[in-house]
Amino acid sequence: MKRRKFIRSTAAGAVGATFAVSAMACVDENKKKDILPEEKKPMSKNKPNLPIAICTWQFTAANQTAGDALERGKPALDAAIEGVSVEEQNLKNTTVGKGGAPDREGNVTLDACVMAPDGDCGAVMAVSNTSHVAALSRKVMEDTPHVILVGEGAEEFATLSGFETEDLLTEASEKAWQEWLKSPEYKPIINIENHDTIGMLTMDKEGDIAGVCTTSGLSYKMKGRVGDSPIIGSGLFLDNEIGGAVATGMGEEVIKTVGSFLIVELMRNGMSPQDACEEAIRRIVSKNTKYKDFQIAYIAINKAGETGAYCIHEGFTMMQYKNKKNESVLVDFYHKPA
Ligand code: ASP
Repeated sequence: MKRRKFIRSTAAGAVGATFAVSAMACVDENKKKDILPEEKKPMSKNKPNLPIAICTWQFTAANQTAGDALERGKPALDAAIEGVSVEEQNLKNTTVGKGGAPDREGNVTLDACVMAPDGDCGAVMAVSNTSHVAALSRKVMEDTPHVILVGEGAEEFATLSGFETEDLLTEASEKAWQEWLKSPEYKPIINIENHDTIGMLTMDKEGDIAGVCTTSGLSYKMKGRVGDSPIIGSGLFLDNEIGGAVATGMGEEVIKTVGSFLIVELMRNGMSPQDACEEAIRRIVSKNTKYKDFQIAYIAINKAGETGAYCIHEGFTMMQYKNKKNESVLVDFYHKPA
């Protein structure tokens, strides 16, 4: 039995029968509230052509890998982790995995999270000894009683779980950091070379939705800084009855509006993925007059397999694997200077 499941079942046993009746009444009450009227359930309107995979930016190979895995019948979470791992291993990608830009002291620290169709989730933050942080997040979810492990604890857990220790700083990323040190200024760049954090949402042949988000965070961040990407609700959120959303861009601003959770809740209330992404971007823009200085993008999918995406500035693209085709989708944006 998985450790987390074991702990859950023992805990339930320890609580005992005294609470069983009232707890059940409470669960039933909550369930009632959660049940959507038939006309509001996206799935009841349309049956999607499955499987589907979407991801942030022009990560063509990663999205294709996820699409192929889904076509082979892999469950949504397996496929998403397989997909993002392409970028975690891509040394040329300076914003994800090995080769990601370090913090201002030269340490590469990675953040990631995963969410499964049953609502379970796991995350790691500030990990510097393995590039496989999406897979490590899944391990946290499945093999520990916790949701998040950070820093040294996450690294020790990686070693115990059999992840090989890697040096994440490459020659190229070290050289770029040395260059940056000559006139160190913290200035996140909008649309870094058109690739950034990879956030992926997959819908498998059964119609189940899973999601993953993995990143090295903002280049030359302060030591210890964590953004939105590994934070469930901010960088990633899903509800298998409704849909899912992921974010990329200036994590601090996504966290302030709990962006991905917001999008899923807007979809729960009947909005399309596109409208929900647009509303979440408007929420940020309306609360921060400096929005012209940073980029944020969201992508989303609902249970009917409809997708949407929106961002603040021009230049963000989403990859979409649908009907066996992997295509780049140019995404509409908020800031359109006259
Ligand atoms: N959202 C990431 C972070 O704030 C970075 C990015 O996607 O550009 O760490």
